Amino acid sequence: MTRAFNFCAGPAALPEAVLQQAQADLVDWQGRGCSVMEMSHRGKDFVRIAEEAEQDLRDLLGVPDNYKVLFLQGGATLQFAQVPLNLLRGNASADYVCTGVWSEKAIAEARKLGGVNVVASDEANNFRAVPSLSAWTPDRDAAYLHYTPNETIHGVEFDFIPDTAALYGRDVPLVADYSSSILSEPLDVSKFGLIYAGAQKNIGPAGIVVVIVREDLLGQVPAGTPTMLDYAVAAKNGSMYNTPPTFSWYLAGLVFKWLKQQGGLAAMAEVNARKAARLYAAIDGSDFYGNPVALPNRSRMNVPFTLADAGLEKTFLAEADARGLINLAGHRSVGGMRASLYNAVPEAAVEALTAFMADFEQRHG
Ligand code: PMP
Repeated sequence: MTRAFNFCAGPAALPEAVLQQAQADLVDWQGRGCSVMEMSHRGKDFVRIAEEAEQDLRDLLGVPDNYKVLFLQGGATLQFAQVPLNLLRGNASADYVCTGVWSEKAIAEARKLGGVNVVASDEANNFRAVPSLSAWTPDRDAAYLHYTPNETIHGVEFDFIPDTAALYGRDVPLVADYSSSILSEPLDVSKFGLIYAGAQKNIGPAGIVVVIVREDLLGQVPAGTPTMLDYAVAAKNGSMYNTPPTFSWYLAGLVFKWLKQQGGLAAMAEVNARKAARLYAAIDGSDFYGNPVALPNRSRMNVPFTLADAGLEKTFLAEADARGLINLAGHRSVGGMRASLYNAVPEAAVEALTAFMADFEQRHG
């Protein structure tokens, strides 16, 4: 068996060791005579799996005790609605920073549930940078400030965490869609009111979204809020008000253990920085390849790039695929190429990609 180097933006590559563990466990988990998929979510075996996953995630991120960690469903997309439902708390509107497609989707959904003030947007610049803080226009009465630390499609990553105390002169909860960069480096969770992240990039397979929320923000949903959309209900029930996606949760737990074995998030951050630097150097080192994002905001996780001759894109993708460098097509909304370099993508993958890029340029440049 040979595994390809998989640059998919999501569902993304998983660590091979995790897949092998899952394979070994698949039919008979730890001598129990059944698969994790076939266990009651309320039984002691699965409850242990779930609790260990939460604890490992808390250890990795250093989640403070006054935060709940929830394993929910509906993806990051449902969070676009669940966040305003839970965090508006009677306020008229919230502030949003717009740095790409995912910010736009979060904004559109929030507008259905309350007011939105777009504090800053890079749309006029085709989403190539994080707007400079000096141009932000915060609304003093905002219920919270929402932003997307890493825009998966445009490859734009914040190089700072917004300081709401400085922006507003009071404690305004900071909310972040960390779907495509959570666990890629250490993070100070205490700076946030709420963090959410769809699993299928750096956490595990699709089917789960992780929400980390400060306890004092819970329990203030409007009357009529569906039960499943109230974070407080999930928190009270250990994310098991209904049947959770048990297999995804278990697999995420294996990924957390793998991350600990790699040396935790500081070690991952070093590897991730090396991978990104290597690929950007290959892009910048030639006129054949290009990336339009402002240097300080270039994403470490998602690297979009173009060919000077867009007519060669199909050939590039086909040749790459034939060499086991798969899923390099850019998002359908922007085209071009994109290499996603999540935790489970090894340095050897970037080495193979940059070697292929140099070779392709020689033959077609
Ligand atoms: N936010 C970001 C930053 C994403 O990259 C994605 C998925 N690519 C989403 C939200 C939507 O996630 P989901 O498909 O899990 O709803």
